[in-house]
Amino acid sequence: MSKSITNWIRPEIQQLSAYYVPDSSNVIKLDAMENPYGWDAVIIEEWLKILQTTALNRYPDSSARKLKSLLRTVMQVPERMEMVLGNGSDELIQMLILALNGPRRVLLVPEPSFIMYRHLAQVVGMKYVGVPLQENSFTLDMYAMLEAIETYQPALVFLAYPNNPTGNLFATEDIEAVIETTPGVVVIDEAYAPFSNRTFMSRLEQYPNLLMMRTVSKLGLAGLRLGLLVGSPNWLEQIEKVRQPYNINVLTQVSVAFALRHYTMFKEQIQRIKGDRDILLDQLSALKNIQVWSSQANFILFRVADAQAISKQLQEKGILIKCVHGRHPLLEDCLQVTIGTSKENQAFLQALKQLL
Ligand SMILES: *Cc1c(COP(=O)(O)O)cnc(C)c1O
Repeated sequence: MSKSITNWIRPEIQQLSAYYVPDSSNVIKLDAMENPYGWDAVIIEEWLKILQTTALNRYPDSSARKLKSLLRTVMQVPERMEMVLGNGSDELIQMLILALNGPRRVLLVPEPSFIMYRHLAQVVGMKYVGVPLQENSFTLDMYAMLEAIETYQPALVFLAYPNNPTGNLFATEDIEAVIETTPGVVVIDEAYAPFSNRTFMSRLEQYPNLLMMRTVSKLGLAGLRLGLLVGSPNWLEQIEKVRQPYNINVLTQVSVAFALRHYTMFKEQIQRIKGDRDILLDQLSALKNIQVWSSQANFILFRVADAQAISKQLQEKGILIKCVHGRHPLLEDCLQVTIGTSKENQAFLQALKQLL
């Protein structure tokens, strides 16, 4: 057989496009759902002292005991539940797919949603079924969902709550019906929990096939890469076998633990972001030639006449937001803007006004 790359790389991989991250030097960066705020100088000093005494020659604590105990408190993990940590929740999604995949196994996801679910299913080789949300409201289409669950008997379902990129929370009774009818596992991905006032974390006891996922990324620690999967010990002891033993490096372990001990600082930042989100929502809603969706997350989805053109023109003005047009038919001409500092939000708004 020829040594050509195309003969050997799996055809599904050849068809994929790599996750695209644009160059963001010298721009107002409102494209990645990051917290725009840093830390006070005193806090940074305190953190550096901890780094000075961190042993880089040793492997990290594989079970990350200290970190887990802090996460348990901050994320209000129910007492009887276990945790598995991931190098970002992206890695947890991959671990779940690896553990649950098999012949005729299906991953089912309402769409549009977080693109890594589909991407990682394709990488691992798991059959993926997307069920469209209702047009415009982006609520679960329960007729279609229950029919798809009946047909495909999914091994795994992901529900992003609040959903990305639509920003809404699905109705509680709809989620309950999905959990009750799904034969496999339902994972509720609460990446945006800090910005929303609802959670399913306290419902874990009630549903044996429910797992919860959280991350510290959207909270303000995206650079450290830490996500957590929460659920009953029975499920998590199986998922734990898929985890690379040292997936959470020492710098992440000590830095996240340090940050969580200063959680009030994040709480203040989150309050500010939520306030600025509501201001920007009002301001965008007042504009003409634009459709805006309300949001329980740290971003806003909106529709313009020509999303690709606007996104490009904003970029020329030094403002980077996310163009989600082309990802899914329901997102036609849609753009997603992350809430930055109030100054950044106003710069974005002024630039957008000139383009509409
Ligand atoms: C950003 C995001 C994630 C990924 O989080 P990481 O922990 O940074 O990998 C997971 N799920 C959703 C819905 C997200 O928007």
